[in-house]
Amino acid sequence: MSKRGSLIIISGFSGAGKGTVVKALTAAHDNYALSISATTRDPREGEVNGREYFFKTTEEFEELIRQDALYEYAQYVSHYYGTPKAYVQEQREAGKDVILEIEVQGALAVKKMNPEALLLFVTPPSAQELKRRLVARGTESMEVILQRLARAREEAKLMDQYDYLVINDDLNACVEEIHRLVMRERLRMQENLDFVEKIRGELDEMTSGK
Ligand code: 5GP
Repeated sequence: MSKRGSLIIISGFSGAGKGTVVKALTAAHDNYALSISATTRDPREGEVNGREYFFKTTEEFEELIRQDALYEYAQYVSHYYGTPKAYVQEQREAGKDVILEIEVQGALAVKKMNPEALLLFVTPPSAQELKRRLVARGTESMEVILQRLARAREEAKLMDQYDYLVINDDLNACVEEIHRLVMRERLRMQENLDFVEKIRGELDEMTSGK
């Protein structure tokens, strides 16, 4: 049986380029499975139901909450966002490193349930650059951009609870930095207790005089 995959949480301010980073990461390496969230926000141009998100009405989303079908959920700028449970479990059992691209409250809730989860915070090099990227994206009104910057200010208060900071200046460098962190995490002793048991057994046998 393959070893269970890791749980990797990638957060960052809206406009930090997380979406692009995650797409490039999963395209470059085949050990990842990206969880697709449910949300009540409207699709942006080019977004497809079931690819970027499962787009839901508020009633449908609240039904998912009632059915306990979500691993975590949070409200972000007046919409619900949540991670469907089943996919995360199935993919990890299949040995995939599952990525959740979620905001800070959800991330910290997952860390509480799974202390072994790897929390990465992706940020542009400066607040000025963050605003520039949000404006350049052109998908939100100035009102929503200002709400998202206000939210970023709140998220910055919690970012020091993450395991690693990843500065997204150069896309490829950022992607490979994340991949290195994930690969290194796999070597943690606590993640390799099966191996530890195996080699202990082998050494016992080898030295017991049989
Ligand atoms: P956006 O509307 O820009 O796609 O996402 C807004 C925020 O919601 C981002 O910070 C994104 O990471 C977060 N988000 C997306 N899916 C989930 C989820 O399933 N749970 C939580 N807690 N946050 C999510």
